[in-house]
Amino acid sequence: MSVTAFIALGSNLDNPVSQVNTAIGEIEHIHGIELKAVSRLYRTAPVGPQDQDDFINAVVKVETTFPPLELLDRLQEIEQKHHRIRTVHWGPRTLDLDILLYGSEVIDSPRLKIPHPEMKRRGFVLVPLMDIASELVLPDGSPVSELVARLGPDDLKIRPAVL
Ligand code: AMP
Repeated sequence: MSVTAFIALGSNLDNPVSQVNTAIGEIEHIHGIELKAVSRLYRTAPVGPQDQDDFINAVVKVETTFPPLELLDRLQEIEQKHHRIRTVHWGPRTLDLDILLYGSEVIDSPRLKIPHPEMKRRGFVLVPLMDIASELVLPDGSPVSELVARLGPDDLKIRPAVL
């Protein structure tokens, strides 16, 4: 049985556009994951410390036969391959992969929280998500379109990346 999941990608180091595009290719090639849709790539002002480059963000829709923790394992393997640097909280990163949604499941374990706890107030997650799932409703009943409409100006420092 396969489940629809949404994954957010972000990078602001070492040619971020290429990091994100390569990661999408790597996700697509995993047995047990079928890539269904890819958002546009966006350029976003960093959250937290401002003395770092803008991020490139995107969201993909997949269908997967992996249970949630195994999906997280596979995504963390990809992060490691990109030599992800994990020194500063909210600091620069080569590649960040977050599971936003896994079907309509709600998971609250030490390693995995789904829906991703920050997703409802992050423009760089919600705007790309709207590209590929404008009708989506979160497990708590919030339509993605309403969450986007409620974003403030600071959450909307995001624009399509010029490629
Ligand atoms: P961060 O680097 O700040 O994105 O945090 C990475 C950690 O968040 C990992 O060790 C994961 O175990 C944990 N985590 C919790 N929920 C999620 C999620 N929905 N997607 C990805 N990582 C998650």
